[in-house]
Amino acid sequence: MTETLMQRRERLLGPNMSVFYEEPVHLVRGQGVKLWDADGREYLDCYNNVPHVGHCHPRVVEAICQQAGTLNTHTRYLHEGILDYVEALTATFDDPFDTALLCCTGSEANDVALRMAQALTGKTGVIATDHTYHGNTTAVHQLSQTNPPPGGYWDSVAFVPAPDSYRPLGGVPGMAHAQAFADAVAAQIAVLEARGCGFSSLILCPYFANEGFPDLPQGWLDPVQEVVRKAGGVIIADEVQPGFGRVGTHFWGHQKIGLKPDIVTMGKPMANGHPVAAVVAPRDTMQAFRSRFRYFNTFGGNPVSCAAAMATLQVLKDENLQENARDVGAYAREGLRELATRHECIGDVRGAGLFFGAEMVLDRQTKEPATAFVKKLSNGMRQKGVLLNFLGIHYNVLKIRPPMPFSRANADQLIETLDSVLAETPLA
Ligand code: PMP
Repeated sequence: MTETLMQRRERLLGPNMSVFYEEPVHLVRGQGVKLWDADGREYLDCYNNVPHVGHCHPRVVEAICQQAGTLNTHTRYLHEGILDYVEALTATFDDPFDTALLCCTGSEANDVALRMAQALTGKTGVIATDHTYHGNTTAVHQLSQTNPPPGGYWDSVAFVPAPDSYRPLGGVPGMAHAQAFADAVAAQIAVLEARGCGFSSLILCPYFANEGFPDLPQGWLDPVQEVVRKAGGVIIADEVQPGFGRVGTHFWGHQKIGLKPDIVTMGKPMANGHPVAAVVAPRDTMQAFRSRFRYFNTFGGNPVSCAAAMATLQVLKDENLQENARDVGAYAREGLRELATRHECIGDVRGAGLFFGAEMVLDRQTKEPATAFVKKLSNGMRQKGVLLNFLGIHYNVLKIRPPMPFSRANADQLIETLDSVLAETPLA
């Protein structure tokens, strides 16, 4: 069955479509944190941040069905749905974030944010880290060094080394590392100015999720924030991964690290799987953008999307899922630390809330990345019914990011399975 589907994918969708695991999983059903394949086999989902409040949450499903059976149209007609939702969404922000633009994907949101930054500054230069991902539009794809654009990079794009708490830049930890990051940004601002594009924005995930979620304290981004402000640029916080309570202690990743961004983007978990994304900004920023561009997005902010997003937000609050992320995340990391006392390959355990993992090394002294090993681990976990993945600068960090109703019992299953797969998998 799986092989036939693989062949049909290749024939109908073209070659080189990425697929998880050596033996791909053919999923047919999901509920909460569980998934089932076509043979009826159950999996524990430790990876999926899109079904934020759990796969097929009945309240989200009901909200979508209700609205789809009543009316679905676009934002050129008046409707309360988008207004009620933006009111509820912006209430989760600190001042002065009080307006939002709705679209369909994180890529679109970041694309709009770049243009917003251009509208505000009159400049085009953008700085990103060298191991990030901000999406797949032509402009946003320019910000990826891990999957370079076919036509090469525009002059308006510059990169700085991604933060790494396990192997800090120049070998210096803590705030010296933060200063080194700020200095790297300052140097790239000078490069953009010398190229004539000027500096408009620094875009970053405040949790540095794709970079391997380094352990960075509150205030770590203060030095870079000062550099950006001094240069007249703006900061775009891409909250596609850490947003909506996932980090446990805070609703947004930028709040956790103490960053005060100018523009915030979000997507993935926002409507539990329905394609909804947003750019949230202070009113004057939104005004600078809207008075220069007549932005319209056919699907963005439609009543069905807003009903799905509103139900997701309400479930998140009613079921105390941010608190759950804090509690279960801390419990699961304790479990990983206990495993590290018995498994030498675990070099570092880190993360926050329900977004955490372990960095695997061949040798704790040299910290040599165990990249091939992590791939084997993730395939081994899949064989035992636990879905997770890996990422990071060296692709050697286990990425554990389950739906938010993940329980302590689920964490026990994850840790026990990992213990047995670690014991069975040869390091070299
Ligand atoms: N920003 C970040 C940080 C992401 O991780 C992703 C997707 N993984 C995106 C943006 C793009 O989102 P989308 O796939 O919804 O376009």
